[in-house]
Amino acid sequence: MIRIIQLRDKCIGCNACVEAANARWRMSRKDGKSVLIGAIQNKKVHSVIVGDDELPQNMQALRNCPTRVIQIIKL
Ligand code: SF4
Repeated sequence: MIRIIQLRDKCIGCNACVEAANARWRMSRKDGKSVLIGAIQNKKVHSVIVGDDELPQNMQALRNCPTRVIQIIKL
């Protein structure tokens, strides 16, 4: 299992995470930032726990994020 974290306030809506992992990320029509699908919000931190099968594409999203607002923790 892995925990994917997004510090959403600092997202600039560049779409790179969606391109890397479109099963887990989408763009919001409301504010133009990306949405971490299935995430719960705790203050400014959005996070979701998913299976290891999602690690490669989300690591790519992490690497591609220009503002470094994505983190991944192996559980
Ligand atoms: S790659 Fe980073 S900055 Fe770009 S939309 Fe995704 S979370 Fe936001």
